[in-house]
Amino acid sequence: MSILSMCQNACNRALDRCYRAVPCLADPARRSSLGLKAAFVILHVLYVGILFLFDSELVERTKQEPWYTAVYLLLFSATLVQYFATSGSSPGYVLDAMRALNESNALRKSSMISKQPASSKSGCFIIDVDQHQPGRDITGRNLMSWTKLVLDMYPPGTSVRSLTCSYCNTEQPPRTKHCHDCDKCVLQFDHHCVWLGTCVGLKNHCRFWWYILEETALCLWTGILYIEYLKASITRVWWKGAIMILLLVTLSISLIFLLLLLLFHSYLILTNQTTYELVRRRRIPYLRGIPERVFPFSKGVCQNIYNFCCGQINLYNLERLPTALEIEEKSRPYTCLDFLTCRCC
Ligand SMILES: [Zn+2]
Ligand SMILES: [Zn+2]
Repeated sequence: MSILSMCQNACNRALDRCYRAVPCLADPARRSSLGLKAAFVILHVLYVGILFLFDSELVERTKQEPWYTAVYLLLFSATLVQYFATSGSSPGYVLDAMRALNESNALRKSSMISKQPASSKSGCFIIDVDQHQPGRDITGRNLMSWTKLVLDMYPPGTSVRSLTCSYCNTEQPPRTKHCHDCDKCVLQFDHHCVWLGTCVGLKNHCRFWWYILEETALCLWTGILYIEYLKASITRVWWKGAIMILLLVTLSISLIFLLLLLLFHSYLILTNQTTYELVRRRRIPYLRGIPERVFPFSKGVCQNIYNFCCGQINLYNLERLPTALEIEEKSRPYTCLDFLTCRCC
């Protein structure tokens, strides 16, 4: 037996022992997800750790003004927490919404109380997953099946077959897409984020936005501290300066990317669009034929922000397709009166 194969066998045995001790590492997808999270933490600790290791003036400042460093470290911790919270959150899977509807129906059946219909004034279908409020988790005067609920969100005459996902075999509400990485249908699908290891959709888009904001702020603040160090210590130890310049360059590139991402997602929120809808607008059947500058799901800037921040906590706020009349109304050119009455808001 060659030395190479002996090493390989020893390595495999060590890996087997490792997988037996930590079973979750046996799954390759889980392993890569854990690896990504470890890389995330190491990168953050590296950038901040080197700063405190090299910058004696920052350490001195911490002793004199502890609140300054405390706020910085608070932002650092909040960013890490937000990353893990977003990474572990559900984007809003169709299967979860179906389960919530079934639970809501079961609750209704047992209480045998007739409540108000599902359609709200804004044309949304709301499934409340908070079981402590049985009065609000209603989706129809009678118990409603998922198929009926989905069909009601499309124009009359739409066939169920055209709405059924061929992978999950479930009916997709508007704005839903099957994610091949998660192997599930995601409500209001935005994109599958490799960095987070999860999809961004209806239920976690808000969290995702806050994560980008915190990461951008942390990146900016760290960059400022790096520049302050380099300005004060450029003539001292050369190799420390070289490392700091290298890290500052990568930090600046990350900052530009994060700023653009933050602006892009803020624009999506203001207009109630998703990345998928914006990028694939011409290929999505329900967006075909709608003029470019018309955002069919937008309910005005203020309402869009409110729905984005507060509308998805315990609810599956499913949006129906706008009617031809509503599209026509949204396509109407702006007049002076529209600006005065803040039509866009
Ligand atoms: Zn699917
Ligand atoms: Zn996904």
